[in-house]
Amino acid sequence: MTSSQIRQQFLDFFQSKGHLIVPSAPLVAKNDPTLLFNNSGMAQFKDFFLGNGTPPSKRIADTQKCLRVSGKHNDLEDVGFDTYHHTMFEMLGNWSFGDYFKQEALTWSWELLTEVFKLPKDRIYVSVFEGDKKDGVPFDQEAFDIWKAIVGEDRIIYGNKKDNFWEMGETGPCGPCSEIHIDLRNQDEVESIPGKSLVNADHPQVVEIWNNVFMQFERMADGSLVPLPNKHVDTGMGFERLCMAIQGKQSNYDTDVFQGTIQYIAAKSGKKYGDEKWADIAMRVIADHIRAIAFTIADGQLPSNNKAGYVIRRILRRAVRYGYTYLDFKEPFLHLLIPGLAKQFEGVFDELISQEAFVAKVIYEEEVSFLRTLSSGLVRLDKLMEDCSGKVLSGDDVFELNDTYGFPVDLTALIAREKGLDIDEPGFNAALKAQKERSRKDAGASAEDWVIVNEGDEVSFIGYDSNETDTQVLKYQKIQNKAGVQYKVVLETTPFYAESGGQVGDTGFFVFATSGISLPVIDTKKENDLIVHILSDARIETLASEPVKASIATLRRRAITHHHSSTHLMQAALQEVLGKHVAQKGSLVNEDLLRFDFSHFQKVTDEEIKQIEQIVNAKIAENIPLLEERNVPIAEAKDKGAMALFGEKYGDFVRVITFDKNFSVELCGGTHVPSTGEIGLFKITSESSVATGVRRIEAITSQKAYELLSEQEAVLSEINDLLKAPKDLVKAVANLIESNSSLQKTVAAYQQKEISGLKNSLLKEIVAGPVHSIIKQVSAPTADALKNLAFDLQENQENLFVLLAAEIEGKASLAISISKGLVDSKGLDAGKIIRELAKEVQGGGGGQPFLATAGGQNPAGIPKLLSLAPSYIV
Ligand code: ATP
Ligand code: MG
Repeated sequence: MTSSQIRQQFLDFFQSKGHLIVPSAPLVAKNDPTLLFNNSGMAQFKDFFLGNGTPPSKRIADTQKCLRVSGKHNDLEDVGFDTYHHTMFEMLGNWSFGDYFKQEALTWSWELLTEVFKLPKDRIYVSVFEGDKKDGVPFDQEAFDIWKAIVGEDRIIYGNKKDNFWEMGETGPCGPCSEIHIDLRNQDEVESIPGKSLVNADHPQVVEIWNNVFMQFERMADGSLVPLPNKHVDTGMGFERLCMAIQGKQSNYDTDVFQGTIQYIAAKSGKKYGDEKWADIAMRVIADHIRAIAFTIADGQLPSNNKAGYVIRRILRRAVRYGYTYLDFKEPFLHLLIPGLAKQFEGVFDELISQEAFVAKVIYEEEVSFLRTLSSGLVRLDKLMEDCSGKVLSGDDVFELNDTYGFPVDLTALIAREKGLDIDEPGFNAALKAQKERSRKDAGASAEDWVIVNEGDEVSFIGYDSNETDTQVLKYQKIQNKAGVQYKVVLETTPFYAESGGQVGDTGFFVFATSGISLPVIDTKKENDLIVHILSDARIETLASEPVKASIATLRRRAITHHHSSTHLMQAALQEVLGKHVAQKGSLVNEDLLRFDFSHFQKVTDEEIKQIEQIVNAKIAENIPLLEERNVPIAEAKDKGAMALFGEKYGDFVRVITFDKNFSVELCGGTHVPSTGEIGLFKITSESSVATGVRRIEAITSQKAYELLSEQEAVLSEINDLLKAPKDLVKAVANLIESNSSLQKTVAAYQQKEISGLKNSLLKEIVAGPVHSIIKQVSAPTADALKNLAFDLQENQENLFVLLAAEIEGKASLAISISKGLVDSKGLDAGKIIRELAKEVQGGGGGQPFLATAGGQNPAGIPKLLSLAPSYIV
């Protein structure tokens, strides 16, 4: 069975059991402050388990792209070395939201594995939670009884809290799990060592394939467990491991999921997979990493220097270095794997094929730049090893290589070993830890439990239609972050738009009905799909129980709205002018401006900018009314030609914003003008590059645009006045510039003439002595001219000391030149002498033994230094 068929059969099976099949959420986690990347199938449904919002169905199944390279789940170091942990993998999952529980979940998993996929029953082991006295959670009798009836007691393993009790985080939903393990060893080995003893023992052929989590408790901030009113099922099965089992392989990399990529790499390197330990590891690493890199970029996360972007960059560098060292790939190669991968996932994760060229280009540029630091890093490492007095390269050196040149520590260790050196790994870890500690401190945040004020969990947003409302506080939470103590407040209904889709959150006021006290709302954010108002006034703790009138700052909102609608018009215009490849890569809309990042490989020319402005302003003048459709099924929205927005989360129903159905149709949750005429005016203020293949345009609208234009007009009119209102202003300025430059040329010619006159007269004033000298104050237009004069005076001289001083624009300038012969025979040094003499004019300087210059604040000291000078040449 091919991997595509396996995936499809999984989905079909759960569909036949009444599950709604949904697409994977993007890899990059949105609206969740605790996650950089989705690392499990349940991440996109977290809200439903937390009781915020209702799932589109009580039974859901899907395949979710997961990434386990940071935070709680980090498998990176195992990848490539073992055969069953990946950075990115697909997690097949089925969910029950307060619907079926353990009986159905476990029975179905057995039916699917043994009847549909026909996996051998005698190779499967299951685990149940043994209980934990300290935590007060009992043995999972229910799961035990169900399994006993299916597989018999001797195939059940008792798991401890570490392996068999799942928690969402420090607080939140949790419960026991039941895992399914499979023994894929050869018959001989199975007969000599029983599989049961190898479960959870890191054996590469006795692996966990499926985990069934039963959420039945909530963990409170004080550590206690409270039973959940609605019990849920959350399961996750590793797709690549399942393929290995069904296809009868002993490594995930031997399945058709990876073989295409591996064979390509093998052919390109001229090596055969399976021949050499390190080349094999490198091929596995690359075949694995390229998926993580490609899909994260396709989901909108570009490699960068911090956070999620840095995680991707590190993975990419790790892949490049394995290729460089073990496969001799000295030129960029990762990007070549993209077309094959895109094809492989067509129809499953289409985001890759639709952005194939863009993703490949981003990867290529990253490769080029790392291959550059890779070789300079190697030079640096050579130097460090040369300077190393003992046999061990210090932890700080290893850290420097890691931090500055992006060298993974194992690469440093490897090269050091070739030179007979070790590395101080504990020292490196300490330096790394210190750095992590620093960044953790920077983040330094804490939160208390939510305080429930009023019952209710349906929160409604009315901000598309109203600017204020009478409502009540549902709950609030005190938090501590960089900004100090703040409060997150949740209302029953709210007109406040929470920051999302690039649009900033609303600000405004809460006026409490009983006391009449008004508190400012400083921001509004979305967290796990809950609208959270941010306040900084502690009085909320006592006022929260009063009815409240919530009002947004309407003028600010209106300016934001102008920028948001303009963004849509501009995106459509960009597609018309630059082409259909233009896709949104990021967006910011606030009261001051709009900023829009999009894929495009060249600079947008001035002419194109002008066309874009013209189109948008024409659409504004047309006064196109807004067509806002809420709750449109996603398929219908796509038929209308809606451009899916960057990284938007899956939802069954979407909002479609249309300004002229033949011009701009987009999925969007933001706020918009009732008709485009309200925007008034649109003006682009800058165009720049943000990353490889990504351009950024900033623009302003309405009042802001008008202000900019009037400022520019005022400047023009001032210039016009200064030039006495000529007929043709541009021509007048051009004439001015031209006559200025010809005047400068004339002046320079005069200066040159004067200086050569000066030179001739100075030569006549040479004072004879053991060392001939010219020591004199002169007048020179610039310090440079003075220096040149001193230099020129040495022409044909063998025994001449020259010191010239001048007062130029209120400051002292000095220049000394000494004949080459004197420098050699008498050891005279112009640099040293000038530093001494410059003290008289409160200045400093330097240069070479035969020519030096200095400047000083105090020209009054010139006569004194001239009189001191002869003493240096006797
Ligand atoms: P393991 O102990 O093997 O690392 P886990 O306990 O971390 O697994 P879960 O968090 O329960 O795994 O995830 C559910 C399933 O996802 C696992 O049963 C496994 O099949 C798969 N899985 C987990 N981590 C990875 C990974 N890094 N690469 C591939 N598949 C994975
Ligand atoms: Mg794990």
